[in-house]
Amino acid sequence: MIVVMKKGSSPEAVQRMVGRIEAMGLKAHVIIGTERTVVAAIGEKRDGERETLESCEEVEKVVPILAPYKVASLEAKREPTVVEALDLKIGGGAIGVIAGPCSVESEEQILASARQVRAAGAKGLRGGAFKPRTSPYAFQGLKEEGLKLLAAARDATGLAIVTEVMTPHHVELVCEYADVLQIGARNMQNYHLLQAVGETDKIVLLKRGPSATMEEFLLAAEYILDQGNQRVVLCERGVRTFETHTRFTLPLASVPYLQERTHLPIVVDPSHGTGIASLVPPMCAASIAAGADGLIVEVHPDPSRAMSDGAQSLTPDAFSQAMEQCRKVAAALGRTM
Ligand code: PEP
Ligand code: MN
Repeated sequence: MIVVMKKGSSPEAVQRMVGRIEAMGLKAHVIIGTERTVVAAIGEKRDGERETLESCEEVEKVVPILAPYKVASLEAKREPTVVEALDLKIGGGAIGVIAGPCSVESEEQILASARQVRAAGAKGLRGGAFKPRTSPYAFQGLKEEGLKLLAAARDATGLAIVTEVMTPHHVELVCEYADVLQIGARNMQNYHLLQAVGETDKIVLLKRGPSATMEEFLLAAEYILDQGNQRVVLCERGVRTFETHTRFTLPLASVPYLQERTHLPIVVDPSHGTGIASLVPPMCAASIAAGADGLIVEVHPDPSRAMSDGAQSLTPDAFSQAMEQCRKVAAALGRTM
């Protein structure tokens, strides 16, 4: 249920409501909007609860949340969630672009990447230090050394750092260096990891699992929100289908579909979504046209030498041109980036 507080309700009145909800054995989530404050009451529904809460003086109305994901739903919060780290802003009309190599490989590589993507207009720098690789024999990332190089690249360029955390044991470590914690597609349903990042105050970029339904995706986001971290960004990165011409199949309809159901921002990853560099720029433009709140794109100073995902990585020039196209699409739709 959503308890909509009367306009101008005091923080004390909101806290009293939290106490009442908790006394009923329900979990209370306070969601402060620009227009009004609501308290989401989550838990098993019992008869009479709605009426009891509705009779409280400071309450305007109580409405049920029909969606299985509660805090993530538009029913709980009408205004779009906007996340910000340094100059990176995603959501609420702002289009945030994150770019950089699949993996951090060396100081030279990550610094060159950072400067190049910054010049093209990116506000976030991606780069994996802990890499989830299909083969245990493939490059697994530079680990903490990679995190340090990312932090150095932030110092040099002012870009916000987006990097993957693969296990709850590493959350504290990655938080020391990152601005945005990426949850990889393979870990979308790693519930302990979702809870662990939900306990932090970092922005979380949650990638869709390659076989996850939209409902599973939103329920994964709910795990993070349920721990109190409201700064979650959804990322469509393609799903596994019968089709083999692209690495994954990138369903852009998920952008407007999600926007009809959640206040959380949604970014698109056309690099993993296609696996083919030449297809990435048109899919970047298409993502913006579909209404995406941002992009995450793999860019490497020399894709042919990349230690992971070279085939889908753009050269800095190709990325710069793709950004130019995206700006035109955004402008045509009355948006800026
Ligand atoms: C990545 O961003 O490099 C990555 C491993 O992505 P995904 O988890 O979507 O496969
Ligand atoms: Mn990659």
